Amino acid sequence: MEASAPCEAIVLRCTNYGEADRIVTLLTRELGICSAFARNARNSRRRFGGALHPFSRIRVLWQPRRRNGLAQLAEVELLNGAHGLMADLDALAVAAYGCELVTELWPEGQAIPELFDLVQAFLDALQGPADIATVRLLMELRLLDDAGVLPHIGHCAECWAGLSTEKLRFDARRGGTLCPVCCGGEQGGVIVDAQTLGSLVRLLQVDPLVFAGIRLSSLTLEQGRRLLQHAVEVTLGRPLKSERFLEQIQGPTPGVLP
Ligand SMILES: [Zn+2]
Repeated sequence: MEASAPCEAIVLRCTNYGEADRIVTLLTRELGICSAFARNARNSRRRFGGALHPFSRIRVLWQPRRRNGLAQLAEVELLNGAHGLMADLDALAVAAYGCELVTELWPEGQAIPELFDLVQAFLDALQGPADIATVRLLMELRLLDDAGVLPHIGHCAECWAGLSTEKLRFDARRGGTLCPVCCGGEQGGVIVDAQTLGSLVRLLQVDPLVFAGIRLSSLTLEQGRRLLQHAVEVTLGRPLKSERFLEQIQGPTPGVLP
């Protein structure tokens, strides 16, 4: 689909370009993820009004498209500046992490309306009273699931056996959770409790736009974070850039063997 009709967008990423221009990565309902060029964005308050910042929600008017060129923004209107994130470094770091994960898991130009709603609910949740570690875990779980790359959690990835023992190895390279027989003596991935795996399975049944009012034990949060971080790194083949920023703020995830 061509970028032509006005549409709503969430700014996932901004990069300054040249003296005064900016290249933005947007998420829209109609066009999915798309990169766009904002000429003179850093000077023109009339056309861009300081709205081109990560995590803001905007209405976009497009320039007529040149053949083979990057889409160009004519004008934008700020709908929601995500100002609540600016006062909370933890929330800001998790927002950056979630948005980077979106750009890594989906190609540009694939319309996915549910993804727009999910990212909007995620950014709203980070500005509300919800627990930030819980929001992060839910977002990682939902993004991996929606992208079709979530490893098997609630049963052995190789023989399909249920969660029969208390401690299990989860190795995303081998497809997910491994029963003791299939695991053998291998040491890859992370060790998790069956209780954590059961909680993650139940969380997949929750309405994906709900982030608030979900209480998780510290065990589920800690092991779930390790498991999902491992799954993300195996899926992408490397850690995310924003993961390093998160670790500087929150400390490293203990015990991850990617
Ligand atoms: Zn097995």
